[in-house]
Amino acid sequence: MKPILYIVVPCYNEEKVLPLTSGMFLDKLESLSGAGLIDGDSRVLFVDDGSRDGTWELICSLAASDRRYSGISLSRNRGHQNALLAGLMEARKFCDIAISIDCDGQDDIDAMDAMVNEYLSGSDIVYGVRSSRDSDTRFKRTTARGFYRLMRLLGAEVVYDHADYRLLSKRVLNELAGYREVNIFLRGMIPLIGFRSSCVAYERKERIAGKSHYPLGKMLALALDGITSLSIKPLRLITGLGIAVALLSFVGIIWSFVSYFSGETVAGWASMTCIICFLCGIQLLSLGVIGEYVGKLYLEVKARPRYIIAERTESAAAETASIQKTSK
Ligand code: UDP
Ligand code: MG
Repeated sequence: MKPILYIVVPCYNEEKVLPLTSGMFLDKLESLSGAGLIDGDSRVLFVDDGSRDGTWELICSLAASDRRYSGISLSRNRGHQNALLAGLMEARKFCDIAISIDCDGQDDIDAMDAMVNEYLSGSDIVYGVRSSRDSDTRFKRTTARGFYRLMRLLGAEVVYDHADYRLLSKRVLNELAGYREVNIFLRGMIPLIGFRSSCVAYERKERIAGKSHYPLGKMLALALDGITSLSIKPLRLITGLGIAVALLSFVGIIWSFVSYFSGETVAGWASMTCIICFLCGIQLLSLGVIGEYVGKLYLEVKARPRYIIAERTESAAAETASIQKTSK
């Protein structure tokens, strides 16, 4: 039996891009099913992440024009990761495989053929990995590389140069549903699920239209979330730092005693100031890192819903209804 594919596309204020890329997704579905790789019931599922422009209206009109388009709309902007998760959890009900892709045409849609082939030959997870970063600015390239290196160093298992373009099988999606955390970083969570995985290389292009929603601030927030939601190594580093500083102060104490008894004591203002500044700095930094984790705990304990689906396009609503009817 051929697998039903859902292409999951998060969209935030993308009215400029969607008219250009939506056709590409449908063409891809057609060519894949024409090649006999996927089932004819495959769909494109858009997730409107609380856009303020005409994105949702566009998605609704697409869904009305062709039943292979469907969409859900979140009650407000929840960020790329949550929007993606909402789409995957919605797709899980109907599909055998889901491929997540950005709607801006940056990820090479033709890599989907290789992804589906990898699935058919036994992989449950297929990561799209960028073969080059020529289309990124130098700054983005360096920060991204540094980020992956730091993540690995801190004990989070991430696939190098892989963003959120990937294929997941139904059983991976079902397992993903069991990960209840609120601070989500899918790139780090998926490798934790396990199963057989493989990579497909693709060329990352320029955005077709509109502009990136990941300015430096958001990129840093994502990096911080990625690290602190996957690894407790920073806390251990603090303990290490604490021990090192304690040892150093112990040496300092002995040294001051020796100086005192040998009568070499000086006013010592400068050295005192240096030591105080140094210790204050370390303490504040440590408190900051601990605070970051306490904040995460606070959010996890509250266990609020990660997204709320406000609306579905008619096609998506009909499918949900039919699933509910058959499961009764
Ligand atoms: N996106 C989203 N919610 C947000 C920000 C972005 O759903 O709050 C979507 C956006 O529409 C796009 C994808 O996430 O499909 C990636 O965003 P973008 O292209 O702006 O990021 P970049 O490629 O520059 O990292
Ligand atoms: Mg993009």
